[in-house]
Order: sequence, then C-alpha cells, then structure tokens
Amino acid sequence: MSQAIPAVLPWHKATFQKWHEQTHRSHAYLIVSPEDTGGESLLHSFAASVLCETPNSSFEACGHCAGCSLIQASSHPDYRILRPTIWDVTNEIEETRPEKPSKHITIDQVRDLASMVNQTSHRGGLRVVLIYPAHTLNANAANALLKTLEEPPSHTLFFLLTHDVKQLLPTIISRCQRLTAPAPELSSAMDYLNTTIASQNDWADKLHAENGAVMRVANLNTTNYFTLQEQFASKLAKGAQSNALKLAEQFDKHIKDAAKAQLSGEPLSIDMGVVITWLQRWVHDLSCIAQQAGDARYFKKHKPALTRLSEQAPAEKLITKLHHWQQQLLKEQRAAEHPLNTRIWLEKLFLQYTQLF
Ligand SMILES: [Zn+2]
Repeated sequence: MSQAIPAVLPWHKATFQKWHEQTHRSHAYLIVSPEDTGGESLLHSFAASVLCETPNSSFEACGHCAGCSLIQASSHPDYRILRPTIWDVTNEIEETRPEKPSKHITIDQVRDLASMVNQTSHRGGLRVVLIYPAHTLNANAANALLKTLEEPPSHTLFFLLTHDVKQLLPTIISRCQRLTAPAPELSSAMDYLNTTIASQNDWADKLHAENGAVMRVANLNTTNYFTLQEQFASKLAKGAQSNALKLAEQFDKHIKDAAKAQLSGEPLSIDMGVVITWLQRWVHDLSCIAQQAGDARYFKKHKPALTRLSEQAPAEKLITKLHHWQQQLLKEQRAAEHPLNTRIWLEKLFLQYTQLF
C-alpha cells in the first residue's frame, strides 16, 4: 500500500511555517482544526517534513530522499499513524479481517507504539506518531497514551488532531502544545476544488451547504449526495404542501441504496444522520429569515423559497415552533445512529415539518 506525501494546503502554510520556525519544541502537539478542512493532511505534512532527510527551504518534504521513499512505501520504521481501523477499510481488507472495523482508537494500537518508541530510532532522526481524530481514543487508549505523554520517549514527536477539544481528556490536552489550523476562506476553498477536482461553478453553494468543510465537499462530489440534497431542499421549499409520506418513501430508498453503494467501496452519501442535519440546517436558515436575524447560511440559493415559507405563518408563532422543533431534532440526531425503522422515522419527521406552517 503506498502513501502519497501531501503538499501543504494553502490555508495551512502559516501554521506549518510557524511550527518549523519555533525554537523550543514540545514533544506533543494538539492541532485543532474544523472538521473536514484538511487537518489530517497537515499532520501528514508535518510527519513527512520531519522524516524527510533533505527538506526544501519552506521545510516541506522533498519527496525523493530515502526517508520520503520509506513514507511513500508505508514502511518508515520511525513513523506510526494511529487512527480508527474504519479509516483503513477497503474491500480487500474487509474480506481478510475477521473483526469489525472500529470507529475508535484502541488500547492495542497505543500499546503497539511501545515496540517503536522503546528502541533507538532506525534512521537516526526523530520518530513521529500521528493520532487522529484524537477524540476517537477510547477511554483505555486515552489513559495508556497519557502515560506515554507523561514520560515522553526521547526523540519522538506526537501530533494529535481534533475538531472537538471538549471530547479529549483535560490531562491529555495539558500535555500538548496547542496549534490552531484554520478553515480556508471561501475563495481559497473554491480555488482548491477548482484545481484538484474540476472547474465547477457551484462550489460556493456546496461549500455553504456543508459549512465550509472543503474535504467533505470534495469527497461527496463523486456521489449523488448533492443531487439528493437539492431534491430534498426543493421538496422542503413546498412547506405545508410537501408530500411527507412520498418524501419519506423516496428518502428511505435513497438511504438504503447509499448503504449498498458503501458496501461496494463508495463513500457513504446519505444516512439518517445526514437527513436530520439537512433538516436542522434548513430550520436554522428559516428561523434566521423569520426573525430577520440574518441571511441564510447553508441554503443560500434557496433564500427566495425560505423567505416565502417564513411568510406562510405568523412570524412569532412560526419562530416558537421552529425553536421547539430544533430542540426535537437535536434529540433525533443523537438517536440517528441506530434507527429502528427509517421509513417510519422519516414519515414522522416530515409530517412534523409540514405542520410548522
Ligand atoms: Zn525527502
């Protein structure tokens, strides 16, 4: 399995540069970056730049020295990546792996580090450990890691990444120096998508709908996600006239088809959680417009429809109902990972929606 060395993303250059210019190094860094804005790529760039034997003047890995070649061949002896095994699932692996891929970083993965950090560095330089997303360390793994961070092995750098610091043990946070990796500005994200995916004129709409998560947009663009999102929004735009039962039937089918496509290796386009997120964002936008408290944030291109909907019920009454429903959707989102019967659930939600007006 080969592994590419990523170029430092334009919106991470300042963070990357700043770290390399530091004169005092910590042994552990916690990088906090908004979800799906390329934080993992920044970690890989840090690792490559440290393990590269002839980095360039901007500190980036050269891509052709012995260190870089070992990274590309996924066989650098002084380099470990800890992430949930679900990240590594391909069809090929799934057939040979008896246990279910995990969404968490386990204690066994942390213990495996000992075999590397207790030996001297193979190539005479620093050793690098990447841990992402760090909030997926389960409790035992987090405690084991804490012990390692409390008695840090020599010549070893730890880079942890998270988009949700609140989920990390405070004791782990306190052992790390914190760095912030920002999300890209809209224009920077659009440039990136235009050059790495394809020149498309609807990137701005897609970035708004996904709250600026540029990597998520890039990943989902290969699936029917945005087509379905558009269909969904156009149905919601009908307000009380939306056919809730029909919509539930359609999206129940789309969710089942997406799960099947995922089994054959495609990125998951939609599931129950996604549908609830769309509803939450639609309600957020509708609520802002009804309160005249700002513009649509996610469904900007549907602003005329949202404005029309906001006028279909007395503003005060609608705002109260929207507020209550937002609370309800938060609860539904928590239960979305294990839906008992998607069709019935969708019918209930869509009926509630039509009753807002
Ligand atoms: Zn190199």
